[in-house]
Amino acid sequence: MIMCSFVLLLLLVGGVEKAYASEKKNIYIGLHDKMLPFTTGEAFIIDNQAVAPAEKLSRYLYIKQTVQKADEVYIFEKNGQQLTVNIKTKEASLNGKPAGSAAIHKENGQFYIGIRWIAQQFGFQVDYLSKNHTVRLYTKAGAKLSNEEFLKANQSFFDRLNSPQPAKGPIAYVTFDDGPSQQSASILNILASHRVKATFFYIEANIHRYQAAAKRAAAEGHYLALHSVTHKVNPLYNSPQSFMNEMEKTNRTLKSVTGRSSVLVRAPFGSSPYLKQPFCDAMSKRGYRLWDWDIDSEDWRYNTSSKARILQNIQAGIKMQKKRGDQHVVILLHEKKITAEMLPQILQFLTKEGYRLQTYDPSAHVVQNFWNDKRL
Ligand SMILES: [Zn+2]
Repeated sequence: MIMCSFVLLLLLVGGVEKAYASEKKNIYIGLHDKMLPFTTGEAFIIDNQAVAPAEKLSRYLYIKQTVQKADEVYIFEKNGQQLTVNIKTKEASLNGKPAGSAAIHKENGQFYIGIRWIAQQFGFQVDYLSKNHTVRLYTKAGAKLSNEEFLKANQSFFDRLNSPQPAKGPIAYVTFDDGPSQQSASILNILASHRVKATFFYIEANIHRYQAAAKRAAAEGHYLALHSVTHKVNPLYNSPQSFMNEMEKTNRTLKSVTGRSSVLVRAPFGSSPYLKQPFCDAMSKRGYRLWDWDIDSEDWRYNTSSKARILQNIQAGIKMQKKRGDQHVVILLHEKKITAEMLPQILQFLTKEGYRLQTYDPSAHVVQNFWNDKRL
């Protein structure tokens, strides 16, 4: 009898392992003492290796990535090390010397790289914390915590994953474009007094100009996102490259001023018609997400005497979204004086209609773009 159970157990374990080998298994990534903002499903184990989108992972590891020969050769550089990967042949070389076969994976036009493989090439230590499905990358200089302390320090990250959000009704995301601005302080005051977290799409020069506002918004738990450098059709939409350059420049400024970088972009004037397929491909490749909106308050149209229209537009929009059964409503506002003046009424209205007002959360991403591109 004991013998029989033992054999049965072996069979079961064998079966489970086999299933894992071909199935995707989600993982998370930690760098030094913190978890990186990879959302569920972004990084995973497939064929017994943990992989992540190459561009996004390199960005977090401060590895510069460039692409040559029509997407065939990827070059990764950091601290004078140069790693070259041919994604057709899988051949890799480190500083010109053959470095064996690269750990790579391609899926839906995305290029994934073996996390352990690339991290080790650039001198990171790698631990797999299997209980938390987490790959931790670190250097002696960069990490202060032991693995046990690391898990403790990041407990809130894992708690959030494990506790399924109780569905207490639909969510509304209040978003503000074109800031930070002179109006930021009053907008932030109103949000704070209503205990609402919002999402801000910043223009690069404004981050420089209104640094205190950007820092305050970050400190108060709002999500800061990217809205370009020039905000002009030409040059912004000249090419996918010009578009990405503007967003990444904005991201660098955001990081230098607030210490935070962003994965979320709002295309000026909306993603349709300018943000055609090659633009979306470029964004997806670099791990960015794109948000348009459900409800346009059209606040940019109005002045002091007509500002009540902002609320009316939102009320009409909410009526429509309720009919559609949309559980995630994104509302477009701008950092304008009349918008700030109408904001208390807008927040009261949304709350009264049963909406939970939340900020953008990369780990609970909602697809919200005019192309309905699920990658973004
Ligand atoms: Zn704008």
